[in-house]
Amino acid sequence: MKTKIGLLYGGKSAEHDVSMQTAMAVIKALDLEKFEIHPIYISTSGEWIKGQQLLRPVTNIKELAFSNTEALPQAALAPDLFQASEQSGPFDVIFPLLHGPNGEDGTVQGLLELMNLPYVGNGVLASSAGMDKVIMKNVFAQAGLPQVKYTWFIRSEWENAKDDAYNKVENELGYPCFVKPANLGSSVGISKCSNRSELERAFKEAFQFDRKIIIEEGVTAREIEAGVLGNDYPECSVAGEIVPKKEFYDYKAKYEDGNTALIIPAEITETEYNELKEMAIKAFKELDCSGLVRADFFLTREGKWYINEINTMPGFTPFSMFPLLWKHTGVEYPQLIEKLVNLAKERHAEKQ
Ligand code: ADP
Ligand code: MG
Ligand code: MG
Repeated sequence: MKTKIGLLYGGKSAEHDVSMQTAMAVIKALDLEKFEIHPIYISTSGEWIKGQQLLRPVTNIKELAFSNTEALPQAALAPDLFQASEQSGPFDVIFPLLHGPNGEDGTVQGLLELMNLPYVGNGVLASSAGMDKVIMKNVFAQAGLPQVKYTWFIRSEWENAKDDAYNKVENELGYPCFVKPANLGSSVGISKCSNRSELERAFKEAFQFDRKIIIEEGVTAREIEAGVLGNDYPECSVAGEIVPKKEFYDYKAKYEDGNTALIIPAEITETEYNELKEMAIKAFKELDCSGLVRADFFLTREGKWYINEINTMPGFTPFSMFPLLWKHTGVEYPQLIEKLVNLAKERHAEKQ
């Protein structure tokens, strides 16, 4: 019997378009002899729209963004939404290919838990803790993982005492520093600041995306990443390095320029790799992750590591870092997808 996969993509987040690209790639890679693919599109305004079962790979993103005529009110018809069809019952596995808030942050995962459906990737806790950079860093700090200095603010706190906020950043972190929305990804809303006026602008910008922001000490370092795959016994991929041609790895560099070099495996020593692997697996376990995670690090010229973040639903096109890391570790893209589907089933079975 074929495994019925409900593919959830799009999403009400700044990363909607990235998710669409990923959905195309995953559909193309899924073996239609083994899998039935049922697309579920979430529009940028948050409508959930179920498409017909896909009998062939799509070649055009427009085919994946269904017209509003079939739109369902947001998750209200969830039981129906998660039936493959009336005859064949619920999906075997949901694959939430969603990045950022309302997708990667535990909200959709919570819905799937309530529906008692197996789903690919991280659970509610890891997803939400991993989405909020402040919470994530607090957990890592508790676990003794090395990190740059950071501080954070909520919008109203800043609005009431802006100068206090800027002074705190200058006193505790200095320049350069990075200002980021606490709950986002793909570098959206992130600025590097070298002086007070840039800091003021950066706060304003980041607060457009979130009511909470994080500010970090800026480091000059190589960016080294590793993929972690598994449930209770996670494994670590080879390391990869990203070399942005720009000031930092911003949204454009990630998705538009094609100018960023990915070096896999990264040129690091065996000792450095072993340190990386230990930290990546530790980060995975400390946040109680499952399925997959991409763990991102900074490595300074002096050989000092800092963990930057983990991503609980990392970029997942065949040209994204996570799948490429696994390819170099010996797991090809279609195999990787199957592994994730099996890990989802395994985790679900263990919960019962
Ligand atoms: P996102 O979740 O959006 O990817 P990141 O925290 O990874 O956010 O930041 C995006 C990019 O900004 C990083 O890949 C790196 O290039 C740069 N960056 C972020 N924080 C720092 C920092 N503290 N020091 C130096 N560069 C940073
Ligand atoms: Mg991220
Ligand atoms: Mg990042």
